[in-house]
Amino acid sequence: MEKIMQVYYKLYEIYGPQGWWPIVNNKTLLCEYHNNAPKNESEALEICFGAILTQGTQWYPNVVRAIQQLKLGRPFKKQELEVITRAEIRQAEISGNGEKVTKKAILTQNTNWKNVEKAIIQLNKNNLIDIEKILKINNKKLALIIKSSGYHNQKAKKLKNFSLFLIENYNGNINEFFNNSVKKLREELLSINGIGPETADSIILYSAKKPIFVIDAYTRRIMGRVGFKEDTYDGLQGLFMKNLNNNGLRSKCRLPSICEHLISFERTRQGGCPSRGTNEVGARNRNRKVCGFLSMSPCANYNQMRTDGNPKHKRDFERSHNNERLFNEYHALLVELGKNICKKKPLCSKCPINKMCNYLAAFKIF
Ligand code: SF4
Repeated sequence: MEKIMQVYYKLYEIYGPQGWWPIVNNKTLLCEYHNNAPKNESEALEICFGAILTQGTQWYPNVVRAIQQLKLGRPFKKQELEVITRAEIRQAEISGNGEKVTKKAILTQNTNWKNVEKAIIQLNKNNLIDIEKILKINNKKLALIIKSSGYHNQKAKKLKNFSLFLIENYNGNINEFFNNSVKKLREELLSINGIGPETADSIILYSAKKPIFVIDAYTRRIMGRVGFKEDTYDGLQGLFMKNLNNNGLRSKCRLPSICEHLISFERTRQGGCPSRGTNEVGARNRNRKVCGFLSMSPCANYNQMRTDGNPKHKRDFERSHNNERLFNEYHALLVELGKNICKKKPLCSKCPINKMCNYLAAFKIF
């Protein structure tokens, strides 16, 4: 199944590492992309809550706003909302994720960035990324806090159901829960009222960091258009999981130039992406705290680094052989394509995978 990997390589080449799952910074309340989240229990829980809140809505701005308010412990006041929106606009511009952010919007803001930053730091007074606090808070208040995510009354109950499950079965210890096998994690998550396959798999992949492929609406749409016949959740998931394997990729790596790039990315990590400023991808990655080194299959050069005696390189190599990284990056890349290019009305002329897409060939768009 070469095509499935060609799609990955092409998207990776164009978009670079995505650093999912984004975590809201406690101090600034802004989303940050790293390639090593979750680093602690609180971040793991935040990802679980994010996966629940993403159901039936868009990650940005709806879920981001809900998570910010959970961290704050109350809904934003009107004035604060304006401040945070400006900060998000600025951050989106910096990270290159500002598809909804026009230059005009940036130019119309008159507030000094430093003042915005100070104001946001003051916002983080309480912390609701906490199972016990979620269970204690009144349903209506919780629903109000997560209102921006849509279906807020239902989602408030789902957050409580999830928290109650952890308390009753694992004494509130999420790490203990994540010690289970993928199969058991999935079974138990699906037994919680309000958690379906996509949410369960998101929690397993992004929070528990275990290898399972997440199928969402973007994945279905893109892969269907590209020409894969599977359209059920399980069928499509099976297709990815059967055909993606980092171990198998090692001998098949045909893009040494990307591996070279990743190695040099690692070497110049402190200084940011070596291609910065030279193209759109470089500019996008400039301020992302992610490293593509962990995300690609290794080529000969990569193998040399593995055996160079540096324990960090060895660790990175081992992690690159874990399918979880590949599944994580692939899914995030599909989200990026689906959000910006392969929309309901696709922008095929701008699409990096248009040469391998059946939809385009069928409609002879250009
Ligand atoms: S070529 Fe068009 S339809 Fe195909 S994946 Fe790209 S945007 Fe979607």
